[in-house]
Amino acid sequence: MVQSRKDCWPGDQQRTEAIVITSEAKQTPQPNISVTSTLKHHHMERRSFLKHGSLLAGASLLLQKQALAEFFRQPAWKITMLRNDVGVFSERGGTIAFLLNKKGIAVVDSQFPEQSQHLVDELKKQSEKPFKYLINTHHHRDHSSGNISFKGIAEHVVGHENCLANMKRVAEKDKIEDKQLYPDITFSNTWKKKIGKEKIKAHYFGAAHTNGDAIIHFEHANIAHMGDLMFNRRHPVIDRTSGANIRNWTSVLQKTIDTFDNDTIFVFGHAFDPEKITGNKQDLAAFKNYLEKLLAFAEAEHKAGKTKEEFIKNTAIPGETEWKGDGISRALTAAYEEVSTPVPVK
Ligand SMILES: [Zn+2]
Ligand SMILES: [Zn+2]
Repeated sequence: MVQSRKDCWPGDQQRTEAIVITSEAKQTPQPNISVTSTLKHHHMERRSFLKHGSLLAGASLLLQKQALAEFFRQPAWKITMLRNDVGVFSERGGTIAFLLNKKGIAVVDSQFPEQSQHLVDELKKQSEKPFKYLINTHHHRDHSSGNISFKGIAEHVVGHENCLANMKRVAEKDKIEDKQLYPDITFSNTWKKKIGKEKIKAHYFGAAHTNGDAIIHFEHANIAHMGDLMFNRRHPVIDRTSGANIRNWTSVLQKTIDTFDNDTIFVFGHAFDPEKITGNKQDLAAFKNYLEKLLAFAEAEHKAGKTKEEFIKNTAIPGETEWKGDGISRALTAAYEEVSTPVPVK
């Protein structure tokens, strides 16, 4: 299977951190998952291991190989509980959020099959409650190809109607329909369900990163999963082939700011700093500002007669210093295309 670059953030392929769940944590009574993060420790350990490994002149090659194999077997995923019964899982791909309470389990997004299997295994260790809902924020593979790990486990899969249409279109094009688990519940504006004390509500505010991005709000915990509507301090993917629209994206972010309150914890699909996958309204406002500056820059340069090829050679957006990563040319390309060949908002 060839992975489409635009469907998958390239930086997510590489995570060097590792996390262990302590045996103490495993004995914690459900439903509270308690995971001890040893992120920094393992990060350090890996570096010193590699450095040390190269200096092991006297050790046998076999021993070194065994040690290396053992090292890379360690789980690379991380679970962090945020508030009440809602937590986040990260490994490779878009951040996953989950709810685990006395009545059941809900999961938002699924990364890739191997990653979602890690989460399913861990949730099953913690609870025998049913997997009520798997909800997709949008169709991109780094958020939905792991759906397949929930086959026969999740009672329902939920997504915006355009999310389902995009998922089907891409899977048909790439001939990977057999590897999909599609939403069986779709919605156009909102969808709402209760699991125990927690109320889950999906909101659709219009085309942005694609034409099918939903915000999934755990109302009781007041945690909103933004999917790829939020790239925190990291140049975004703007999928024009799936109906993305930067100008509308800024109004989607404004609607989000107006809809939620100052206590809402927002979960971000991607972040430049893997520790900053959650945040607040200020982060949303900062990203809205980034998109406005990106669009204004493209408009000005297009008006000044710059070609797309000239424009995408830029390495910075005037007035914008916080957003980083390797995706600026993709963002510039999408912005130039939007201002030079506007398409109606779907
Ligand atoms: Zn993503
Ligand atoms: Zn995406």
